[in-house]
Amino acid sequence: MRTPVFDLLDQLVDSCQDNRDGQVAQYIPELADADPEKLALALCTPDGRVYTSGDAEHEFTMQSISKPFTYALALRDRGLDRVLQSVDVEPSGNAFNEISLDSRGRAKNPMINIGAITTYALAGDDDMTAGDRLEHVLDGLSQFAGRELSVAEDVYQSELSTGWRNLALAALMKGNDLLVGEPQDAMHGYTRACAINVDARDVAVMGMTLATGGVNPLTKKRVIPQWVARQVLSVMTTCGMYDSAGDWLSRVGIPAKSGVSGGVLGALPGQVGIGAFSPRLDRFGNSVRGVKIYERLSHQLGLHIMNTP
Ligand code: GLU
Repeated sequence: MRTPVFDLLDQLVDSCQDNRDGQVAQYIPELADADPEKLALALCTPDGRVYTSGDAEHEFTMQSISKPFTYALALRDRGLDRVLQSVDVEPSGNAFNEISLDSRGRAKNPMINIGAITTYALAGDDDMTAGDRLEHVLDGLSQFAGRELSVAEDVYQSELSTGWRNLALAALMKGNDLLVGEPQDAMHGYTRACAINVDARDVAVMGMTLATGGVNPLTKKRVIPQWVARQVLSVMTTCGMYDSAGDWLSRVGIPAKSGVSGGVLGALPGQVGIGAFSPRLDRFGNSVRGVKIYERLSHQLGLHIMNTP
């Protein structure tokens, strides 16, 4: 049934369609081939209703949108203290692929590559093989989405062929004695997690699973404890939008994470999960039309987390 929510989403998508600013990510060969015209928006409510507009069933790889979810699994599996031994929660002020370490050699946060690779290796337990860990992460992310997700092998292979910097980041963390297992396994697994296929609808459901405090709104199953959801949302708020997290928080005010394929995940505690997708990126690496659509959505529905009554 058409409801005013669908009309609002259509109107938001239409209002951004003509914006052709920005550039599709070039450094992963397979991503450079993305169709720059795609644009999608999806919302999921706490009771599991999903509203979509635009190319909402077009699949894309999660890239950095996977980071909050692997962080959630690491926290659930190892506890906060163990994760904090290797990965802190401070904004880095650097690009996503920089060597951003604190004075103890810990990665600055789990939303940048060095932290996310380290976090990936903390999902599960020490007895897992690299293959077991990958299954564990894929299964965990599927529980967030409420359906079985899979890896885009072509994108994975493409990123592996250019992933030397990520391998170096993993090796550096091993050198600091803060990485579980082998650097190669952590880098390969992290890269596979980034290459998991989703559509905007999945992203909205995954966001809502964080925003409910850990219960998937479709399957009604608890994926993570409430404290983990709070921790992940906090770090998304301060570190989720690359080097424009402050600008994003003041303008949009929704805990979020974006990725280089053009996806933007949003999760407003207790209220809504949001998925947006459009491949052209701004100079920070955030989707140009994704940012615009969130700004308008937040404004029109009064979603800013700091709004006062
Ligand atoms: N897989 C990408 C990388 O490691 C993710 C980057 C991103 O989305 O920020 O370079």
